[in-house]
Amino acid sequence: MADTVQQIKDRLTIVDVVSNYVKLERSGANLRARCPFHAERTPSFFVSPDRGTYHCFGCNVGGDIFSFVEQIEGLDFKGALKVLADKAGVTIEYSRGRKEDKDERERLFELLEVATIFYSSRMNDAALQYLKERGLDKKTMHSFRLGFAGNEWSEASDYLKGKKFTEKEILDAGLAKKTERGSLVDKFRNRIMFPIADSAGRIIGFSGRIFGEDASPEAPKYLNSPETVLFRKSRILYGFDKAKLAMRKHNCAVLVEGQIDLLASHQAGWGNTVAVSGTAFTPEHAALLKRMTENLVIALDADTAGIKAAGRAARAALQGGLNVKVAKLPSELDPADLILSAGGGSPPGGKEAWSQVIREAKDIITFLLDTLEEHAKAKDIFRRSVESIVLPFLSDVVSPIAREQYVREIAKRLNVSEQAVAEALEKQPTMTKAMEDRPNEITSKSNTVEGFERARQAYSIVLWQRSLPKPEIDVALYEGELEAAIGPEAFEKLKALGDTEREKMRFAAERLHGKSRTVVREAKALLSIILKEQLARELAAATRALRQAETAGDEKEIEVRMAVCNVLTTKIAQLHEVR
Ligand SMILES: [Zn+2]
Repeated sequence: MADTVQQIKDRLTIVDVVSNYVKLERSGANLRARCPFHAERTPSFFVSPDRGTYHCFGCNVGGDIFSFVEQIEGLDFKGALKVLADKAGVTIEYSRGRKEDKDERERLFELLEVATIFYSSRMNDAALQYLKERGLDKKTMHSFRLGFAGNEWSEASDYLKGKKFTEKEILDAGLAKKTERGSLVDKFRNRIMFPIADSAGRIIGFSGRIFGEDASPEAPKYLNSPETVLFRKSRILYGFDKAKLAMRKHNCAVLVEGQIDLLASHQAGWGNTVAVSGTAFTPEHAALLKRMTENLVIALDADTAGIKAAGRAARAALQGGLNVKVAKLPSELDPADLILSAGGGSPPGGKEAWSQVIREAKDIITFLLDTLEEHAKAKDIFRRSVESIVLPFLSDVVSPIAREQYVREIAKRLNVSEQAVAEALEKQPTMTKAMEDRPNEITSKSNTVEGFERARQAYSIVLWQRSLPKPEIDVALYEGELEAAIGPEAFEKLKALGDTEREKMRFAAERLHGKSRTVVREAKALLSIILKEQLARELAAATRALRQAETAGDEKEIEVRMAVCNVLTTKIAQLHEVR
């Protein structure tokens, strides 16, 4: 695997990788962007092409291409490796170790992959017929690896045991339950199987859909894998792995509910569609999407439950910093029905109708205002519902410009002043405070550690200059002067800083001095300030000691202390002359 890592590093630069997710702009020797990991208005996310690293001064994350992909796609190291290997066109060389050598997660991935192949080999005519009736073609079914789980009690479990997976592994993967008599029973039976992948495309769970006449009425329509080590519902969006590129390309994501709607939407050309599966849309989902795009169109069913779900999803999405629009589907139709409906007519059906619904999606506030106005029988009821339903949404809107526009719109519709709306809004509890820019930790340091901060700043210059092919300052000399100025104890503290911290410091120094043509002078000035502060502290201590000696009337001690004070005062005076 070490080979694979190196090969990937040889082929992909940090800029190749990062620019897939964020828009980078030049900034001296570096590139910078608004950080994809926290909400901010001014860019504090820096990328160094020379060192192949990135760092954000806002939320303090940093690392190389692998950690970047891990963080941005919510993957473990191996997942990131797979994503980058695919991108670089490198084949991953797994060490062909014995079974016991592989870790638990790796075994589960393998088991789920084998299960996916098994289910797809069991696809039968009845299931195919059902999927065809819902408008799905073979290519779509194939690309999403659909399969079928038969009605036998333990067909899948038996198959997996035959492939040398243990009962514990089958249970851990969420594919079976244990009966009271201790035997395994398949969790999914008589269902169409939709494999659910993580963002690297590895299968982590399933959603099984019941169909046909013999489906018992109390059985749930969709059955999902339970939460496992790999499958975390609140972090997984169905179709995300396939929608990634399209979301980035079109700078927009479409959210539907359920597997069939998702497949139909992809088939209709909307490859940027994702679906929640068996759970509400959470702020975690929003954060996942935010890394690919800032815009979300929510297209859930048009029934009351669907509209309520859309409202909740929109709230979570707004809190996650996404711009949210809501598509209005014709009543009684879900996206798959709409796409399947006859195309070309008037009103249009089929693909065109779906495209129109997405394109005509209204921003969430307008959608709510429209819907409420439609249903409110009196102006008074409308006003109250705006206050109780729309304003909480508005307080989640991150952009102040957008917020102002909405305030204007609401005031117009309610026929009240903008100020009245703004005041009502003020009273709303806000949820987005935590998402606001975090203060830069360098500038927010208290005075007590200011001295050490300055020493750190100087040491940052040392680290940064040393990483350059041609340093502008005499690094060894400067380091020595710094050590002399701050003393060995403080210097040891600087030398003990960890790698991440050191890389962050390189970025900090580069950001501060990188564009300057007077680095040497700036470095010297910094050192002289440190020296002066150090001397001032020593002088303060010496003066205190002198006063103590005076109080005690110790003539000998007074003489010594006086001499020390003199030396220090002279040194400080000399420093001023040099500057
Ligand atoms: Zn950040």
